[in-house]
Amino acid sequence: MKANLLLFLAAGVISFSACNSSQQNTGTHSDSDSVSKQVMIPDSSNYQATVDGKQVGLYVLKNQNNMQVAITNFGGRIVSILVPDKNGNITDVALGYDKLAGYQQTEPYLGALIGRYGNRIGNAKFTLDGKTYKLPANDNGQSLHGGPKGFHVQVWEAKKINDYTLELSRVSADGEEGYPGNLTVKVVYSLTNDNAIKIDYTATTDKATPVNLTNHAYFNLNGQGNGDINDHVLTINASKFTPVDKTLIPTGEVKDVEGTPFDFTKATAIGARVETDDEQLKLAKGYDHNFVLTNSSTELKQAATVTGPKTGITLEVLTTEPGIQFYGGNFLDGKLKDTKDGKTYDFRSGFCLETQHYPDSPNKPAFPTTILKPGATYKTTTLYKFSVQ
Ligand code: BGC
Repeated sequence: MKANLLLFLAAGVISFSACNSSQQNTGTHSDSDSVSKQVMIPDSSNYQATVDGKQVGLYVLKNQNNMQVAITNFGGRIVSILVPDKNGNITDVALGYDKLAGYQQTEPYLGALIGRYGNRIGNAKFTLDGKTYKLPANDNGQSLHGGPKGFHVQVWEAKKINDYTLELSRVSADGEEGYPGNLTVKVVYSLTNDNAIKIDYTATTDKATPVNLTNHAYFNLNGQGNGDINDHVLTINASKFTPVDKTLIPTGEVKDVEGTPFDFTKATAIGARVETDDEQLKLAKGYDHNFVLTNSSTELKQAATVTGPKTGITLEVLTTEPGIQFYGGNFLDGKLKDTKDGKTYDFRSGFCLETQHYPDSPNKPAFPTTILKPGATYKTTTLYKFSVQ
């Protein structure tokens, strides 16, 4: 009897490891209704294509804890983030598409590497060294996220350095999307053994230009497509934020969060105050604001912490940047096609924490400068670190 039991257990272990090695891009996840289904990284063949004469593919990073992150070099997009929840069930916490075509539809920058300028530039223009540069207006008369052909739809050169590191690079030519200077950009995604996605951005230019690079991953720590994010508990280490006008351009004011629904200095559910009668929340249809980090040093520091209560998965954001855009998915409307697993991405079903300099800085001399000059190197780092509570 005992021997039989041992044999049975041994067979179980063997079949578990066999399954793991033959399906390296999968994990199992038991839903609350205890129907077990597999959480998978999209099939890489869905990403094999030639776009603008360049090869697109899907790259999977793995660490020693079996955490996996899939990234495509089309727009440098984070496609999937597979992490264990509090019960050890593998959960995909990133919104994304199951094939390349998803990223080629009109869509809200899921997982994208954003550049040359993250967030908005007012009236789609700025003046630098006495010259006015006009940018393509792609958001209500403003420039958003580097323009319609920004870095998020460009094919990056990809070099897989090892199992856990992917290097992406490209040269954004002088005049691309209206910006001055040839900008040579390198972005390295590494998956660390303490379950962090580390993103190192570097850039150099041959003419002065604004640069503000970020990542636009949408997270749902209860699992992608698994309801809204109102129950997520958030802390942002920011005592101030930059209010916006009706076009979502900062007014220039830097306002205290204290006594407002923008005070996340103590852990608070995202949905707790989002519907309160607040002018800023009304203008942006919810949270869509730049928070000014209290620690403004260019050292890596803790910026935000979020927990999804259903899974216990916690995300910590660390950055060298002075600001973070907390966007609560207010423009998601359930209409996106080709979403992973056929999930519906409804209103507020994902949130972004975009580490960055402040929006519209090229037109706001009082904000920290975003101008990169020839001879200098733009260098920032952000970590998205996962754990369970
Ligand atoms: C912006 C939102 C915008 C979204 C695009 C965010 O970074 O702050 O206003 O709608 O990106 O999906």
